[in-house]
Amino acid sequence: KLSYRLETVAKYIPQDYRIADIGSDHAYLPCYVVQKGIVPWAIAGEVVEGPYQSAKRQVEEEELIEKISVRKGDGLEVIEEGEVECITIAGMGGSLIASILEKGKEKLTHVKRLILQPNISAISIRTWLLENGWGLIAEEIIEEDGKIYEVLVAEKGNEKKSYQNNLEKGLLFGPYLLSEQNPIFHKKWISEKKNWLTILAKLEQASDSVENREKKAELMKKIKMAEEVLSDEE
Ligand code: SAM
Repeated sequence: KLSYRLETVAKYIPQDYRIADIGSDHAYLPCYVVQKGIVPWAIAGEVVEGPYQSAKRQVEEEELIEKISVRKGDGLEVIEEGEVECITIAGMGGSLIASILEKGKEKLTHVKRLILQPNISAISIRTWLLENGWGLIAEEIIEEDGKIYEVLVAEKGNEKKSYQNNLEKGLLFGPYLLSEQNPIFHKKWISEKKNWLTILAKLEQASDSVENREKKAELMKKIKMAEEVLSDEE
């Protein structure tokens, strides 16, 4: 059975799109969507030998070798032009996901949808999408086994639309998640704010420097934004 986290990613894959799942590890996601008949064909990409072997084994065990091509390589380099309409990248940090997209930019010409699930730092992905002409069309925030995850769905064009007049907050909190403000969102940002306050207190005890002052200013700005967002809800 697929995790609720990956099921949430799968939910946004359009029927009959071919996908590439980058950093696929056991290839659970491509196996699931091929078996369900959601996608006719998929690539499972992995850069590390161990997970690459796990992906191959899983695809063989499920007798899906005709429908899932397991490939070893860094990021989007495993994709040939025009092979897929959708790319999924899940279970990594947001800055790693953004760097994979940046490095593989030229592979995105024929791709219509990106489904990205950062474990942390979704802001890095939102920033990359905005700067590269990809518009967010949906977002979800979910909790599984005590961990909170975000899922970001993007298509080409309309990159500014979802942010309306609230770019700075939108990039940090997510434009859709911000307007929805569900209890998981609330929980996440209360906890982040607590972390920031702890770091701020430590910085206040450390010796003064330009770098220190800049870090404090940045933290105070984020704390203020979180407070505004969280109090909006009451
Ligand atoms: N996507 C699966 C999931 O969400 O359950 C597996 C997540 S696992 C924590 C992250 C995987 O990404 C690891 O197997 C790692 O080897 C792979 N990975 C990291 N950087 C990569 C890159 N540049 N290209 C391809 N795979 C990468």
